[in-house]
Amino acid sequence: MKLYLVPTPIGNLDDITLRAIKILQSVDAILAEDTRTSGVLLRHLAISKPLHSYHIFNEHQTVQRLVDQLKSGKTLAMISDAGTPAISDPGFLLVRACIQNDVPVECLPGPTAFVPALVNSGLPNDRFTFEGFLPHKKGRQTRLSELAGEERTMIFYESPHRLLKTLGQFADVFGPDRPASVSRELTKLFEENRRGSLSELITYFTEKTIKGELVICVQGKEAVSRKAKRQYDREEDTTDEDE
Ligand code: SAM
Repeated sequence: MKLYLVPTPIGNLDDITLRAIKILQSVDAILAEDTRTSGVLLRHLAISKPLHSYHIFNEHQTVQRLVDQLKSGKTLAMISDAGTPAISDPGFLLVRACIQNDVPVECLPGPTAFVPALVNSGLPNDRFTFEGFLPHKKGRQTRLSELAGEERTMIFYESPHRLLKTLGQFADVFGPDRPASVSRELTKLFEENRRGSLSELITYFTEKTIKGELVICVQGKEAVSRKAKRQYDREEDTTDEDE
């Protein structure tokens, strides 16, 4: 009896881990967000297992049935279309229900889009906040104003057709000079990590046809204390040279 959450590649098929393959080979059944998309990956890995559909539209209805299956002794693996299940993807409800019903849960480490985007951005990553997708309409402005004073680097998932609108709103809230980055098509042939101020990114992407999947990282508001520390460090350096 166990639920595994198994990350799958976000582009490059070589990013599947050896353990992910072993787990997918060993479970009784696989829960997939889109059985056609996952069917392609499983065929590529030569894995043949019963494949059940689990997505946001049937998540609420299927949770109890799946918990019952797990409690009867079954071992299941959940995968999403790409990346780590439950990260801006279905999965959370089942994980929570398993924990409430004493069913063991294990999420394997593996591909997810936000980690390479954050590291490639070159923005401070000692502390960060994952914001995922912003609400499209209701609550969007509220969320943005809540983030106006955020000091940690912020990570957002966004679709290509909303990129310019979102960057424009970021420039309004955070200021056009705020350092940011857009990571597009991570791990794929045409991967691009574009870094610059929000206004530079807007200029760059205005002149392009924006295609593919992307992640936006925005540096946090510079805390007064951090600025003061840098000033202090600089003064220390000059004093050392003087001595
Ligand atoms: N579960 C996934 C994860 O662990 O990252 C995220 C799934 S979410 C439905 C899809 C979003 O993830 C995309 O809209 C994009 O923001 C981001 N994403 C997924 N693959 C990506 C890639 N190869 N390059 C850049 N962003 C990607």
